[in-house]
Amino acid sequence: MNSKADTIILGDWVWTAPGRLIKNAAVVIGSGIVIEAGSQADLLSKYPGIKQIGGSGRFITPGMISTHTHFFQTFLKGVGQGLTLRPWIKKVTSPASITMNEREAYLSAAIGIMDAIRSGTTAVFEFSYAFPNPAMFNAIVQAYLDIGARGWLGIGVNDTGSEHGLNPALIQPLDQIPPLMDKITASVRKQGRGLVLPALAPSSIRGMSREAIPVISEYCRSKDLIFSMHVNEIAVDNDVAQAKFGMPLIPALAENGALNDHFLAVHCVCMTSEDISTLASYNAGVSHNPVSNMYLGSGVAPITEMGKAGVRLSLGVDGAASNNSQDMLETLKFTVLGQRAALRDPSVIKAEDALRMATAGGAQVLNAGDRLGRLEPGYKADITVFNFNTPKTLPVFDPIATTVFNSGEENVETVIVDGKVILESGKFTAINEEKLLFEAQKAAEALLERAGIER
Ligand SMILES: [Zn+2]
Repeated sequence: MNSKADTIILGDWVWTAPGRLIKNAAVVIGSGIVIEAGSQADLLSKYPGIKQIGGSGRFITPGMISTHTHFFQTFLKGVGQGLTLRPWIKKVTSPASITMNEREAYLSAAIGIMDAIRSGTTAVFEFSYAFPNPAMFNAIVQAYLDIGARGWLGIGVNDTGSEHGLNPALIQPLDQIPPLMDKITASVRKQGRGLVLPALAPSSIRGMSREAIPVISEYCRSKDLIFSMHVNEIAVDNDVAQAKFGMPLIPALAENGALNDHFLAVHCVCMTSEDISTLASYNAGVSHNPVSNMYLGSGVAPITEMGKAGVRLSLGVDGAASNNSQDMLETLKFTVLGQRAALRDPSVIKAEDALRMATAGGAQVLNAGDRLGRLEPGYKADITVFNFNTPKTLPVFDPIATTVFNSGEENVETVIVDGKVILESGKFTAINEEKLLFEAQKAAEALLERAGIER
């Protein structure tokens, strides 16, 4: 084991997994994996002469996993403010997604990934739209690889939905979807080299016919792919399900084979207690996106009740058009404050609950809980090092509370993915950030102009 160790990360605290906080600690990594975590004094004498990073005032955690976003929307920050979900899709996100070219897809993904990394995230589930040009997906994968981030690329799927305002360019006939997905997922898997994995992302029940749900569910299960879908973000999902299936959405998904451990339901704001126990009994996962739900006025998802029922919970940021950033630290804070405000009770959720959902929880809902989300021997070395020596964060008595309530991107000092340092002392190691940001601003202006989106 010793010969593989290449780096020792030192901190005043290491949070290796939920319930396990070590003081004066260190994490030793090598060959892209965690070798061990424990007492700083013990590990320094056990592994002499290897590279040292971190130091005093540092807090070491597993990298966060953002389980929901739409990267193309990073070009739409602040656009369409005040619109509710459906007109916002029609006037803002739909025209942008069908007009965007490959370079714009690359740049929008790159700035989204950089923002996520700067907030201590190491892996992002990108929920793409059903771009008619498959080269758009390769452009997004390339952005992950160039920066060195881990990810899932959910390929957008719709076989209906024009009656709900979905642009016909984003709709494919159902019989063409499986062969098309075979092609795109194989290409993502090959290009992604284990760092970026494919998944399927049917947008919502508005974009799925009655016949499509069992076909796509069976496809995902047989190919071991995550099936992620927007679920009950607003009340209309239940109305649409009622018209299509004669029952609300969650029972309809259960009856048509969609609910299982490959299913990742996004949002789940409008939920009955029965819906919640159904999700739990089928072991489906949930991506909670509190900033987006508040931004669009959708409401506060009942994650406290879901957690009590045993639903597997994770956190996401959602697209920047309904959040304005990809900042998982903000999401941690909104997760806790949202539940406390909605339930008028500060004891319903702790800071550690949010950090658990953002790390081990994210890994579990993506069926990667055996390799991601914890700093235990054999786990992937996906690590965030916070430096809390700033006025906003000092003094630190409880580093988890500090992370959730009063840290920011300025505290994220080092980010490691697959054992490689991708952000070092606040600087990206593999890309020219300044150049990409400059190009992204110009490209976003040009896209809005071409797509006829009002600013
Ligand atoms: Zn979304």
